[in-house]
Amino acid sequence: MKVKFWGVRGSIPTPGPETTRYGGNTTCLQVVTDNGDLIILDAGTGIHALARQLPGKLPGTAHILITHTHWDHIHGLPFFTPLFVQGNQIKIYGGRDIDTGEGIERALNVQLQYCYFPIIESELKADLEYVTILAKKSFQIGSATITPYLLNHPVINFGYKIDCDGKSIFFTGDYEPLTNHHSPNTVEFANHQQMIESNLNELVQAITNIDALIIDASYTQEEYSSKHGWGHGTHSSSMELAEKAGVKQLFFTHHEPTRSDTELEEIFKNLKKNSDFEHYLAYEGLEILL
Ligand SMILES: [Zn+2]
Ligand SMILES: [Zn+2]
Repeated sequence: MKVKFWGVRGSIPTPGPETTRYGGNTTCLQVVTDNGDLIILDAGTGIHALARQLPGKLPGTAHILITHTHWDHIHGLPFFTPLFVQGNQIKIYGGRDIDTGEGIERALNVQLQYCYFPIIESELKADLEYVTILAKKSFQIGSATITPYLLNHPVINFGYKIDCDGKSIFFTGDYEPLTNHHSPNTVEFANHQQMIESNLNELVQAITNIDALIIDASYTQEEYSSKHGWGHGTHSSSMELAEKAGVKQLFFTHHEPTRSDTELEEIFKNLKKNSDFEHYLAYEGLEILL
């Protein structure tokens, strides 16, 4: 399977001279299986460039897995040009919103209103299907088995494990490791701790010996002290997780939008070295062959 990064920026697109090396587009990854099945992880602005290199390979089917419906993970969706071409089949997968009960159709519906976009959904020419999925219920896309895992974020967010062609990857979407804010030696602390450990064990089990873990590492440890509950992880928390699970390669993504290329590289240079696995900063255009 081949994985390519089309958007590695968190929260908001950041074009400009300070982000040319890593890129300013928001989250979007492309996975192509050995059989040629096309799986797209999230539809940030990176999906626009992804779509532009597809024409020769279409008409065909694209499977778009949405981790969650924060803007930076869906706002490229109306610009996914295969939606406008008859004969294409586009399937969009994602979880049900806990508050409203709406399925993943909300990701596109909310944007295809005249006040936001000049084309309405009934004018899209592709055959469009929404698939609302459940945590830990695996499903098949061609030769790939996809398993969604619910990960901590202010809204429902699925991390996706993809097993295919004897290899496996896990993409977290946005993820903040849980921490215990209760006072130690209280019942609340003990109960919360039990829940945290059970969630962590489940995640560790899911990614044990995985070939590539692609993870939200928005903040440095120092920045995180004032950003608890914002829904994002740090480079060090990602490395701890990778170490615990014995992952083979770790890719940091969802780079903080105020970060320049130089600052990003400075942070990376100062990270604790680890001989058990390789770790990399994801950049637009990076390809992983597994
Ligand atoms: Zn995000
Ligand atoms: Zn988010």
